[in-house]
Amino acid sequence: MGLIRALLRRWLGAIQRRHFRQVVFVTTMADVPGELSRHALYLVGSPSRPKWAVFDCPCTDRQRLALDLTQTHYPSWRLDLRRGRPTIWPSVDVRAGKRCHYFVRDGRVINVNDASDRRVRR
Ligand SMILES: [Zn+2]
Repeated sequence: MGLIRALLRRWLGAIQRRHFRQVVFVTTMADVPGELSRHALYLVGSPSRPKWAVFDCPCTDRQRLALDLTQTHYPSWRLDLRRGRPTIWPSVDVRAGKRCHYFVRDGRVINVNDASDRRVRR
């Protein structure tokens, strides 16, 4: 029973930590609402080839971010959507005022500092 409870707790924890729980497809930038749900990621363009990923920074500032997904542009990001869970590559590095640097993996936000801490401990 202890094992099942531990597995269940881990599973629930994983769900709770998933930041991006909603992916919304829109045609143009003007279709992105002025106020976004904290857990929403908007993809602008055609569903098969979105041009922008728009979301509010997961930190408390909630600054609006728009990542260019057009591969010929620089900088640009690659978006992978599996079962509605976005993965973004490379990392998102915001340097406006304070710095926010994180990976988005399977809808989860992984801070780069946390990731490097884990690497050091190994
Ligand atoms: Zn931020």
